[in-house]
Amino acid sequence: MERLHKAKNWITEKWNQGIALAKKNKRKTAIGLVTASLFITGSGLANHYYNANSKTLYHVYIDGQEVGTVDHPDVIQRHIDKQIRQYQSLHGSLAIEVENEIEFEEETIRNANATNEESIQAVDDKIELKVTAQAVIIDGKAAGYTTNRGTVDQLLEEIKGEYGPLPVAQDKEQTVSAAATAPEKEVRFKESVSIEEQKIHPKQLLNKEDLKELLVKGTLEQMTHVVQAGDCIGCIAKQYGITSEDIYRNNPGITENTLLQLGQELTVTAARPKLTVQVIERKEVEETLHYKIEVQASDALFRGEQRVLQEGKEGRKRVVYQYITENGVQTEKKAIEEEILAEPVNRIIQKGTKVKPDRGDGAFTWPANGGRITSGYGPRWGKMHQGLDIAGVSNRNIKASDNGKVVQAGWNGNYGKSVIIDHGNGYRTLYGHLSTVDVSVGDVVQKGEKIGVMGSTGESTGVHLHFEIIKNGSNTNPMRYFRG
Ligand SMILES: [Zn+2]
Repeated sequence: MERLHKAKNWITEKWNQGIALAKKNKRKTAIGLVTASLFITGSGLANHYYNANSKTLYHVYIDGQEVGTVDHPDVIQRHIDKQIRQYQSLHGSLAIEVENEIEFEEETIRNANATNEESIQAVDDKIELKVTAQAVIIDGKAAGYTTNRGTVDQLLEEIKGEYGPLPVAQDKEQTVSAAATAPEKEVRFKESVSIEEQKIHPKQLLNKEDLKELLVKGTLEQMTHVVQAGDCIGCIAKQYGITSEDIYRNNPGITENTLLQLGQELTVTAARPKLTVQVIERKEVEETLHYKIEVQASDALFRGEQRVLQEGKEGRKRVVYQYITENGVQTEKKAIEEEILAEPVNRIIQKGTKVKPDRGDGAFTWPANGGRITSGYGPRWGKMHQGLDIAGVSNRNIKASDNGKVVQAGWNGNYGKSVIIDHGNGYRTLYGHLSTVDVSVGDVVQKGEKIGVMGSTGESTGVHLHFEIIKNGSNTNPMRYFRG
């Protein structure tokens, strides 16, 4: 294009807050601009017609480069103002600046038409709008922008507030200590979060709700999940807030029948929140300390017998727990302070190891507690009295006369309630007329062990024990075994 330099004015513009300010004028022309209109002073504007066919045009330069012509600088300014107003209608009053230097060169020329549309397009392509915004910086990276610092502060508090109060499950074993202080709670972001003023394009601005959504829900990200012990497709999907189908779609070959392998990598596309709200709560409780059971072997007791040497007693401890949740999911529970208030006392049990011999040693002991013989072994009233009758005892417990196994226990004809013990060495003993029988057939009894109580059951005329010793099937005189 041939340039004519008659009546030329340079107008340099820089828009600010919708007001274009004249910044420099190469021809020292003072330029003033008010809102959407250019106000141009200087020579040449009022009398730019040389003849009927000549016309004044303005060459438009963006950052020194000519992009076209316009009939009047207003064409450009109105276009830029319109864009600025669009952002303002979304975000309120904004200080939007045009970063580029826009200059106009006035020229009067014959038979010429300005290329308004071309120039406007060039403006759209080249100009950079900037606005001072509040950037939310998360771990050093700008995550989103909005206009007002107070809005960001408020928003961050709102996000924190959505994860409290922490619902701490009360364990059954815990009671809140009387001395406990109120739970301490701290809510913070896991990431480092700051607010920084930055110049950005106004199209990056978000309103409060959109910024909150971005911070809380995040944007879709592709991640790799490494399969851990206990993982399942459904569990992994739940963890990322997606569905099993999402996982199948992202991982060809994986189906609901796939058996996951430890360490296997899965591609997961899910929204990852940009902020993690960490709630740390400390709670003081008292817990029961269960006593232990200590078992001691004792050869003073027979196998199957036991005795409590010491009763157990539960102890108490005071514990301060720290619970951490991240975005509502508990990630940690640990005791950070512990104090024993009362130690538990072990319950001590002795268990017998002694094996009961079921064979007698042949040395019989007296089956009653003292007493006297009211009728001895031998012929009596024309028939044989096969044992001893013992009465007049200090207590009526009847004892096994030697080790052995019970082969009869209970009613036994004329003997009434009786017990017969086989001593495994050719001897048996019989105890008749008992009031109660304390053993059963098959029991192994020890010499001196209580087997029943003296009575007068069966063919009996008074409370006494009828006692027999039978050797290889034949009755013998028991007194033979007690003499000497
Ligand atoms: Zn008798």
